[in-house]
Amino acid sequence: MDGLKDETLFREACLIGGRWISAASGKTVKVIDPATQAVIGTVPDMAGSETRAAIEAANAAFAPWRKKTNAERATLLEAWHRLMLENLDDLALLLTAEQGKPLEEAKGEIRYGASFVKWFAEEARRINGHTIPSPTPDRRIVVLKEPIGACGIVTPWNFPNAMITRKVAPALATGCTVVIKPSEFTPFSALALAVLAERAGIPDGVINIVTGMPAEIGAEIMANEKVRKISFTGSTRVGSLLMRGAADSVKRVSLELGGNAPFIVFDDADLDLAVEGAIASKFRNGGQTCVCANRILVQAGIHDAFARKLAARVNQMKVGAGTKPDAAIGPMINMAAVEKINRHLEDALAKGAQIATKPFVLPDGNQYVAPVVLTGATTEMVLASEETFGPVAPLFRFESEQQAVEIANGTPFGLAAYFYTQNLARAWRVGEALEFGMVGLNTGAISTEVAPFGGVKMSGVGREGAQAGIEEYLETKSFHIGGL
Ligand code: NAD
Repeated sequence: MDGLKDETLFREACLIGGRWISAASGKTVKVIDPATQAVIGTVPDMAGSETRAAIEAANAAFAPWRKKTNAERATLLEAWHRLMLENLDDLALLLTAEQGKPLEEAKGEIRYGASFVKWFAEEARRINGHTIPSPTPDRRIVVLKEPIGACGIVTPWNFPNAMITRKVAPALATGCTVVIKPSEFTPFSALALAVLAERAGIPDGVINIVTGMPAEIGAEIMANEKVRKISFTGSTRVGSLLMRGAADSVKRVSLELGGNAPFIVFDDADLDLAVEGAIASKFRNGGQTCVCANRILVQAGIHDAFARKLAARVNQMKVGAGTKPDAAIGPMINMAAVEKINRHLEDALAKGAQIATKPFVLPDGNQYVAPVVLTGATTEMVLASEETFGPVAPLFRFESEQQAVEIANGTPFGLAAYFYTQNLARAWRVGEALEFGMVGLNTGAISTEVAPFGGVKMSGVGREGAQAGIEEYLETKSFHIGGL
């Protein structure tokens, strides 16, 4: 790919058991630059047999990998982390090329993705068990923490780097090995990470990657008894399919699924802080973020001022290719995404919503969407119940705190929620009442490697990041020692 300082990071093959290989069928999948629709390159379209080989490789690598000391594994993770930061510019360029987000955001994602590798390298040294006082004097009971085994890692296109490191770093820290299936839209970021893992000295078979269309790869990962855990980030539809598929061989599952985040602005909020929070939460990654504000609920007394300020900020945004320095919003990932956003917009306008932002002149290219602030949104509109996954900010007017909480919780999803108030009692009341895995009070930033990330209800099972993130890859063994 043009523009890379180190062209060896661009791989059009898969890593299985330490070998870079093509599909046995010779089939490939094209990877498209969403800014131009040009083909960036191709990756192997792997089938069940190659997925099986990758699982065999991960399984074979498991015993020697788990035997290493935790400090040895941590040292290798630290080397991987260092290489990610040393190659930040290239990794970001690859990410922007296949995913579309502005280059500065791509760099931010690489730093964020790398932060998980560092954090879990540190945490590897603290995988502690504990002892339990025995009920009889002649016994001792010890609780051991052990790695689960080979894990299937299935990731989406919206954060092609970080969604992988959030899973792979804790898996490797515990002594698990992995088979990664990245999104067919963004495989190059995953393959570049694997090149760097090899370079860091992570042994053959510990990280394996299979690219291609998902059905056959997914079926093998679900059915194969040697996969002891599936960790998935993506849509609720595919997550529940994987959960069902994992049932026959009783695998552990972690699911990071879709959201429908409310962003509540109370009359007593700091207006400027709320506007900046809404901009960050709604428009990052062009609104293609699971935790991005999907429904902005604004109390009647502050509604018009908030709408005006938000629209004025959005009017200043530039839409363009991620490689353009002034682009705040890149192209959407594909035409299906553009059509969904337009469908939500048309439905809202037909049901009485109004556009508060100026018309945008969009750059050439089919996959650009103008950022929009809508007023007059209601719960009857499709965008109230489905993730729009685009730069559309619908404002719902509300009167009372109780009404806001009811609207916010009126969804089967429960990933992230945000609210803005200066009132301490309200802060506690609303914070406790929101049925979400993550809540931001007076902040739109809730993603960090040091805090648990994950959802309740149909937004998922399990947590990533923090100590909770490493538990996802550990089994608990109680060891009873008798005859003392
Ligand atoms: P998706 O569910 O379509 O795809 C996710 C991954 O699953 C891809 O790798 C895809 O190839 C794979 N997949 C699809 N069908 C499969 C099958 N039958 N078997 C196995 N794998 C299969 O999701 P997406 O469009 O890539 O990502 C967007 C979604 O991800 C949104 O709903 C978003 O909210 C969610 N998401 C959630 C989080 C979170 O942390 N909760 C983070 C990012 C994205």
